[in-house]
Amino acid sequence: MDDWRLQGQEEYLKGITLRRATYRPYREGWDHDHCEFCGCKFSTRPGDQNEGYTTLDEYRWICQTCYEDFKAVFAWTIVSEPGT
Ligand SMILES: [Zn+2]
Repeated sequence: MDDWRLQGQEEYLKGITLRRATYRPYREGWDHDHCEFCGCKFSTRPGDQNEGYTTLDEYRWICQTCYEDFKAVFAWTIVSEPGT
């Protein structure tokens, strides 16, 4: 698969568990994050990505488009609630 958005993420994102979630900052003082693939902006503001897929620690975010495009390659497991 040849795509400009792929830059070695399989080393840390392949086969992991993701959760669909509404964006919230990773920690106090942060106000946005970027999609791990396309770099689009996640924040709580209108016009940015407000929802997507996140690692269970909510450190990394993946937008809906990239999720759809890469889910077959990355073989993610999706959970609906933390810890399930
Ligand atoms: Zn993206």
